[in-house]
Amino acid sequence: MESPESSSRYFDHNATTPLSAAARETWIDTSDRFWQNPSSLYREAGMAKRLLEDLREELADELGIDEPERVVFTSGATEANNAVMRWAADSGKKSAISAIEHPCVMEAAPTGAIALPVNRETGAVEVEAIREYPGDVDLISLMAANNETGAIQPWEEVGKICREAGVSFHCDAAQWFGKIGGAEKFGEACDFLTGSAHKFGGPKGVGFLVVPESEIGGTFASQTGGPQENGLRAGTEDLAGIAAMMAAFRERSPCLPGNSGGRDAFESALAQKLPGVRWIAQAGERLWNTSMFVLPGDEKNLKWLVRLSRLGFAVSTGSACSSGKNNPSHVMEAMGLDFDEMGRVIRVSGGLDSSPEDWVGLADALLEAGAELLP
Ligand code: PLP
Repeated sequence: MESPESSSRYFDHNATTPLSAAARETWIDTSDRFWQNPSSLYREAGMAKRLLEDLREELADELGIDEPERVVFTSGATEANNAVMRWAADSGKKSAISAIEHPCVMEAAPTGAIALPVNRETGAVEVEAIREYPGDVDLISLMAANNETGAIQPWEEVGKICREAGVSFHCDAAQWFGKIGGAEKFGEACDFLTGSAHKFGGPKGVGFLVVPESEIGGTFASQTGGPQENGLRAGTEDLAGIAAMMAAFRERSPCLPGNSGGRDAFESALAQKLPGVRWIAQAGERLWNTSMFVLPGDEKNLKWLVRLSRLGFAVSTGSACSSGKNNPSHVMEAMGLDFDEMGRVIRVSGGLDSSPEDWVGLADALLEAGAELLP
């Protein structure tokens, strides 16, 4: 089957990123050299185990966590977030969850969880509103950055509020880790933390979960069976995938935080030349690579997306997980968009290698599509 060309016109990096050169090389090298099962007892398996533990220590260090055994390698952020929410549900934790969490948090959340609203201009939860909850809840869940709007969330402050109140704090950092700097602050802020390799040049199907030290040796388990991952996740570890994830992170670290210049120029150009665009979460702090907007006119976003695709540009109508369905996005609902507006939303998310020219090209392509689709 013909494979799509990876190109500078790819603007859907929040859905997934291409495998980085370092990740690919490390994946092949680790698969060739350390293919033994890290749980086996002969010398070569011991070397695989040593590599696994070195990678765990490295990740713990990057996250500002002093106890590497709190770090669990998983099949991605979905598994990790599901595990935290199921643990909360099974242990009867009263929970408060932001209204813009990823479906893998929302759908597994304990029944009756309180939904924390976001500010419709900035897309961020209001810290003052959160101050009301500790005392009433056992767990607060807030992502680090939203995958649709790009809105950065006040996770550090919320983590502090939780710590002072003795409430557990879960943060889904899938759109933050490997995309912006400052990851070492997560250790102090969070009890539970999750991340995903394919959002920053690592392979798909690899990620991580951090649990509080008190859960080691307890009932918490992401998967049950063997004693791998300090009893927190059964199953033979994907050592090559884990090594590739860390290689991708190492390769990216010096480039973080990214630069919002291309995105900002794109928005200015579009605001000038395509009147009637409504920007989403533009008033707040956003991921440097993300822009979301409601298109003018009557045509649905899908028609724009198809036109852009023909011009060689890949963009999204929302999160990759929801866009295959016809359901309106709960994030757009939380941002106060009406049904009609939700049908005209486009999200673009660039990569570290998207050049200013790529962003200009995207703006031009939208104008070309607009010439056909607008009255
Ligand atoms: N959380 C957020 C914020 C995401 O954006 C995603 C992916 O879209 C996930 C969780 C799920 O990650 P994974 O694909 O690793 O399961």
